[in-house]
Amino acid sequence: MVQDLFLEGFVKFITSLVAAAALLAATGVAAQSSAVTPVSPGAGTTFVHVGRLLADPATGVVQRDKTLVIEGNQVVEVRDGFVSGDAGEARIVDLRDSFVLPGLIDSHVHLTGQQNPNARLEGVTQSDSDQAMLGAGYARRTLMAGFTTVADLGATNESIFALRDAVRRGDVPGPRIIASGEAVSVHGGHGDINGYREDIMHLFTGESICSGAEDCMRAVRLQVRSGADIIKITATGGVLSNTAAGLGQQFSDGELAAIVGAAHRMGRRVTAHAHGVDGINAFLRAGGDSIEHGTYLDDESIRLFRREGTWLVPTLLAGDFVARIASGPDNFFTPAQTAKALEAGPRMLDMVRRAHAGGVRIAFGTDSGVSAHGDNAQEFALLVRAGMTPLEAVQSATVGAAAHLRISQEAGRLAPGMPADLIAVTGDPLTDVTVLERVRFVMKGGVVYRAD
Ligand SMILES: [Zn+2]
Repeated sequence: MVQDLFLEGFVKFITSLVAAAALLAATGVAAQSSAVTPVSPGAGTTFVHVGRLLADPATGVVQRDKTLVIEGNQVVEVRDGFVSGDAGEARIVDLRDSFVLPGLIDSHVHLTGQQNPNARLEGVTQSDSDQAMLGAGYARRTLMAGFTTVADLGATNESIFALRDAVRRGDVPGPRIIASGEAVSVHGGHGDINGYREDIMHLFTGESICSGAEDCMRAVRLQVRSGADIIKITATGGVLSNTAAGLGQQFSDGELAAIVGAAHRMGRRVTAHAHGVDGINAFLRAGGDSIEHGTYLDDESIRLFRREGTWLVPTLLAGDFVARIASGPDNFFTPAQTAKALEAGPRMLDMVRRAHAGGVRIAFGTDSGVSAHGDNAQEFALLVRAGMTPLEAVQSATVGAAAHLRISQEAGRLAPGMPADLIAVTGDPLTDVTVLERVRFVMKGGVVYRAD
């Protein structure tokens, strides 16, 4: 299972019957509040009347009284005023009292599970099919919260690749998923199984666990063969693996270079879970593409980020969540997890403040699955507390995350030729980012999934 700040590797351990029961209850509520039955793309032209429109967050320009003309799954035109074309077949969506922006992007989630007191048991009891089905529920919740694209950075290969493809086919409502599958990790590292009896651990150490440069190239290539869109590695220790191995560098410099080279030669980017500064800087020097968490980054890290244009995905929500659990009356973490959560969690706000002030490019990511799926937008307020403006926070979850994930032609802004992924809120997110925690309308690929 995989929650990384947390659990990357051990993907199997995360979800629960408790979570499943909560999911069923929440899904019922969501169904009642979704007034509109999903309409298939290609059902004709849709005219979306918009009161205030942030079409391209890169510009920060908010336009008033516009009509988005949508055909099939695409925006084809943005017109002045409220127009409706010929009466008859055209649908009109009235968002004249709302603020509309592109569908949000979360660069770091774990859809197939959710942290809970039974997570370690679930890792050895749930099947991949169980996890895929749980993931379908969490994917729906994520979409209803306004996130139309996510990167899933750690799940069993079978469960997440099947879920990704089911969403792509339209069989399951959810965000578009860019998936890493299982994280590449060293033996005994954050992504490996830890803290069980030997025979259990032998069974659960997967093909993505490696030691030595040659072996780690093998692990990367097998992930590509299995269907990984991106390679996720655990460059350092992590909070929620049950081992007192610290939060420092785990791959050698030679292993990191071998991993990055093998991935890039096959057209895959590499993103690294990394807390300790030794692992952060070693991965940046090895040519890695992005850092998840970045807890102990220093001035040298900031220099390396800027030199390479590398993206940081801070996951403040995960840091906040584990610190709250570990210091609360109902702490369910093991002693090894608790010590690391109390050490790393509180440092993350200051880390983002320094990185942002230092000019590091920041992409929005939450590590949801550590915190609850559907709460993703709570990250915005934390980013603002760390010194970003509301517009910068919105940019990190739209144009920023799209650039980071290399999908700028498919997500992050609204313009002719772009997919019709858009959300609406009441109020102005450029004044108060917390309005994004209450999304009222969600359209993905021209299909309306939520209209409160
Ligand atoms: Zn993670």
